[in-house]
Amino acid sequence: MNNQELIENAIKARENAYAPYSHYAVGAAVLTKDGQVYTGCNIENASYGATNCGERTAIFKAVSEGHKEMVKIAIVGGKENEEIKEYAYPCGVCRQVMAEFCNPKEMTILIAKSGADYIEKKLDEILPLQFGGDLWNI
Ligand code: ZN
Repeated sequence: MNNQELIENAIKARENAYAPYSHYAVGAAVLTKDGQVYTGCNIENASYGATNCGERTAIFKAVSEGHKEMVKIAIVGGKENEEIKEYAYPCGVCRQVMAEFCNPKEMTILIAKSGADYIEKKLDEILPLQFGGDLWNI
């Protein structure tokens, strides 16, 4: 799956965001090492701490289906019911969760406004010296 297709999956997933408190809708699509795609959206809660980010929703869906190594993730976000106007970078918690299920030096992060407009980073660039990263250096 190419970058544009993965981003389009994230844009589609964003439609399901449940964000009645922040009104900020996020979509994500993660590609597993064996070529499967899992999507996620942010799911907020009246008890704010129970909220789950779109990236973690996608990753947890993949892991719960038996896929424990990710190679790429596309992320989109912006005010709900509006076009995407900004890049939505993953939060620190999601970066740490990504580090658990990928090789940080190879894991590609696509922070996108559209299939044609995106920033491409490696996880190791946006979460250097990550906790647990030694697992991938053995
Ligand atoms: Zn997050």
